[in-house]
Amino acid sequence: MENLVLSKEKLPEMLTEIASKYALFGPIEENGFTSFKHINNSQEINLDYLLTRISPKSLIFQQTETLFTFNKGKEVKVNTPKTDEAKRVIFGIRPCDARGYSILDPVFEGKKEGDYKDPFYTKKRNRSTLIGLSCNKPDLNCFCTSFDDSPASAKNVDILFTDIGEKYFVDIVTEKGKELIENLSKLFSKASEENREVREKVEQDAINAITRHMNTEGVVKKLDKMFNHDLWQKTAMRCVGCGICTFLCPTCHCFDMQDEAILKEGARIRVWDSCMYPEYTMHASGHNPRPARMNRVRNRIYHKFSYFPKNDKIFACTGCGRCIDYCPVNIDIIDIIAKVKEAKT
Ligand code: SF4
Ligand code: SF4
Repeated sequence: MENLVLSKEKLPEMLTEIASKYALFGPIEENGFTSFKHINNSQEINLDYLLTRISPKSLIFQQTETLFTFNKGKEVKVNTPKTDEAKRVIFGIRPCDARGYSILDPVFEGKKEGDYKDPFYTKKRNRSTLIGLSCNKPDLNCFCTSFDDSPASAKNVDILFTDIGEKYFVDIVTEKGKELIENLSKLFSKASEENREVREKVEQDAINAITRHMNTEGVVKKLDKMFNHDLWQKTAMRCVGCGICTFLCPTCHCFDMQDEAILKEGARIRVWDSCMYPEYTMHASGHNPRPARMNRVRNRIYHKFSYFPKNDKIFACTGCGRCIDYCPVNIDIIDIIAKVKEAKT
């Protein structure tokens, strides 16, 4: 892995250069909230944030996306919308959110020959270069280290920036990252041994600052024996079914497809959905396989900690802590997994 440094005062120039050739996305603050948006001017970027409330999964797996439009004259015409072909750079993504994309990949890109590859997701994903930003000060509910990750992990990004004071330490991780930096090389200089030591200390201090941990050892097998455990009913008694936990999660990917039409014209639109809503599994017959909140609360945990690891060898959680931060009734996924570990079966 090649290492460089970038003086902080050169960051706006770097971003302006990138924005002249790529569609640039990054964290910007609007109405008191920071979220990832398209950036026209480097001054818009706000790096004084830890996690955006809505995860940047929305940049690749859009909250609403038109799949095709149709109109019905003498015959029905179906038009596929032109996809945005611009190469993208996503700047300032946190390591846990970048890991979120790696968890979504097998869902939308397929795993083996013949699996369906979602063109809307894969095109955006393949055209995106991720520039990560290490977290110097993790938050109260961050627990990325529970998944063999780190606040300065370069595993799921193309380039990683780490704030080491007056400079950023730059890890160039992939060929895609190298290609991007090659065109900007005049702005960077080679990292010194001292820079490297500061970067390591920043990472170690951030790891040490993480106070919450989830112990997932043996959880997959334990859940096999807990389908009818009263933990799900007890948790469901508190859950209000708002779906916030799933909407904000960087790995949740339930969606619905809706036809919106006015007179003879319309569109089929994919929209985020949530397995915490009863309508999500409602069949046309009126039968619902997850009729009670208990079924849905249980499914959320089983999907992340049983079905997903069984199918894809990875837990569908990055340890970002958003579902803990924003659940209106303080349901805490770390506590739930601790209770699974303790449960008598
Ligand atoms: S389940 Fe919660 S902590 Fe885990 S990735 Fe989703 S929002 Fe983050
Ligand atoms: S955010 Fe909390 S209350 Fe809302 S659906 Fe999720 S667990 Fe239930």
